[in-house]
Amino acid sequence: MYQTALDQLVLLFEPYAEAVVVADANNTVLYVNPAFTALTGYQCSEVTGKRHTDLLIVRVNYHVNTDRWEARINTKTNGQLWVRVSETRLGEEWDGKIIYTLVENHGLEQLKGLLKESETRFSSLADASPVMIWMTDPDNLCFYLNKAWLEFTGKPLEEQVGVGWLKLVHDEDLNKFNDLNDLLQERRQYSLEYRLLRKDGVYRHIMEIGTPRYLPDGTYAGYMGSCLDITDLKKAQHELANYTAELKRSNEELEQFAYVASHDLQEPLRMISSYIQLIKKNLETGRPPQETFEFMNFVTDAVARMQMLISDLLQFSRLNRKGLPFAPVDLNAVANAAIINLTQRISENNAKITLDNLPTVTGERSQLTRLFQNLIDNAIKFRSPDRIPEVHISVKEDENRYVFCVSDNGIGIEDKHYHRIFVIFQRLHARSEYEGTGIGLAICRKIVELHGGEIWVDSCYGKGSCFYFTLKK
Ligand code: ADP
Repeated sequence: MYQTALDQLVLLFEPYAEAVVVADANNTVLYVNPAFTALTGYQCSEVTGKRHTDLLIVRVNYHVNTDRWEARINTKTNGQLWVRVSETRLGEEWDGKIIYTLVENHGLEQLKGLLKESETRFSSLADASPVMIWMTDPDNLCFYLNKAWLEFTGKPLEEQVGVGWLKLVHDEDLNKFNDLNDLLQERRQYSLEYRLLRKDGVYRHIMEIGTPRYLPDGTYAGYMGSCLDITDLKKAQHELANYTAELKRSNEELEQFAYVASHDLQEPLRMISSYIQLIKKNLETGRPPQETFEFMNFVTDAVARMQMLISDLLQFSRLNRKGLPFAPVDLNAVANAAIINLTQRISENNAKITLDNLPTVTGERSQLTRLFQNLIDNAIKFRSPDRIPEVHISVKEDENRYVFCVSDNGIGIEDKHYHRIFVIFQRLHARSEYEGTGIGLAICRKIVELHGGEIWVDSCYGKGSCFYFTLKK
């Protein structure tokens, strides 16, 4: 009986234990054997005429120049099988037909199982971690977020994959991610701080460390990162920095006190001591009482001066934060109270005082009155002899604070002294020229600092000065 080439092949492969596909030279399926049907569920009639690659075999692992490769085949039940395929091209006498023999690849299945187990192990470890963990693909698009992240943001994974999570980053911190691009290109590890929106609507400070990921063959696979909420840590750090600054400030103050005690208070004491010596000598030698009286006056002056220094020092040291009853204070009322306290000084000098409409701030009324009073008092005291003193109080504001300015047309200050004048008992003039102890501006500085502000001076020597200070809104 005459048999076609295909008939002969069918006869040959029908009882074969391994799955066989016979295709023509163009890879159109001509026949599959019962073992193939048993493996995939597809009857011969269902697949003949189809291209083998279309329906049945998806080649996944090419071994170039070999006729053996691995493939994934679809089964009729929509499942997939991993198989090893060997491909035999028959000669001319068989019209160039191709025989594929398929053997199920259990080893690969096992590997898949191991992979799955390792993936499960990773995700259960990552999900049990209190640290937020994410992963991106080689295009830096996020595809994995662990439970801690999802719980923190309160949003489903679908909304955050790709670049969706960036919507939760604080607007002002988004540029930090643009700045990262170069590092990512170079596949470098990085650390970054930014604010991320928590599910309760509060932005929290996040510390993130990102590390590049590689496949076993060295191919770049994306980044993996871990994030910690460091808000509480930052707060503690901030408080510590504040305490340190406060400690530094009070240490400096202590040093100044020591300096004052050893220098400024010594000066009248030295005077008292030397005049007492002279008085003693006068009494011993019987010199005219007129001179002795004069010496005694010097002693009285020095005692008075010492009393003044001590009472100033006491006032200064009593200014502190403890128990300050901060309340809303209308600074128009405060400035007017200061002006009333200075009525005599103002009228003696014919001084002209003007003020802008001033805001209400949170503070301590009597301290703020003292601040305005000291600055206005100085503005008149250090007047130029050839001009009527003019003092103006103005205010500007920015987002968080008011900036006040007390300006005058007085004698001005050389810029080399700008810093010194705010130190306790530091003066630029002799007592005979302008009275005072040099405590006024030190008190101003302390009051402003106790209110969380700053004070500084700007001046045009010979023309006038502007004393600036800030108060919180
Ligand atoms: P005092 O007024 O008792 O000298 P302050 O601490 O108030 O002490 O001022 C320190 C020094 O700063 C003054 O001695 C003076 O030299 C300078 N000063 C303060 N205010 C003015 C001002 N408005 N114009 C010029 N100099 C000033």
